[in-house]
Amino acid sequence: MANKSVVLDDCLYAYLLSATVNEPEVLRQLREETARHPYGGMQIAPEQGRFMAWLIELIGAQQVLEVGVFTGYSSTCMALALPSVGRLVALDISAEHTQTAQRYWQLAGVAERIELRLGHALETLKQLMDEGDSGRFDLAFIDADKANYDNYYEQTLALLRPGGLLLIDNMLWGGKVADPSEVDEDTSAIRALNSKIKTDPRVSAVLLPVADGLSLVRKRGDLL
Ligand code: CA
Repeated sequence: MANKSVVLDDCLYAYLLSATVNEPEVLRQLREETARHPYGGMQIAPEQGRFMAWLIELIGAQQVLEVGVFTGYSSTCMALALPSVGRLVALDISAEHTQTAQRYWQLAGVAERIELRLGHALETLKQLMDEGDSGRFDLAFIDADKANYDNYYEQTLALLRPGGLLLIDNMLWGGKVADPSEVDEDTSAIRALNSKIKTDPRVSAVLLPVADGLSLVRKRGDLL
């Protein structure tokens, strides 16, 4: 066996989806609608959504935070995995994109579990801390503007409970992080955060080559 991740060509990727991802009809509809959107590439992949839902089940998460909703594929995936008492606080800056998300939350029957907060996430995250939500969330997912990734990392880490799980999307950034000639703000921000997480004593982490790279960062409980 190879000592690195298998390369997913189109054929093997199609197999992975068809043979292993049991995507609910409502999510398939949302994915197909979003694929026609000009920014459709921002939507997470189906196997990533399944993985994130599975992580929620695995840790028994009830309080979930999402930074970056877009049209709602990831939030719908996660909300479907929550127990009925669960809560997902969803942050986004776009009323237009989240109209689609809200429509699908209704269709999926999870709208009552999701609290949408529109505005700049840096301010909304601070509001949550001011409202006493620090240390309350079991799981958080960051998938928003890359230039602010370190700020979102620090704020969501504060909002997570000890032992909580932080998921960060696009951490391989289409391969640009490995190309030294790529020095744009977004690539540099992601590269810097990868480097920071590697030696951050507050967390233990792993970066999985799922879709565009998904970091799984566990907030340590023993150092707090
Ligand atoms: Ca993303």
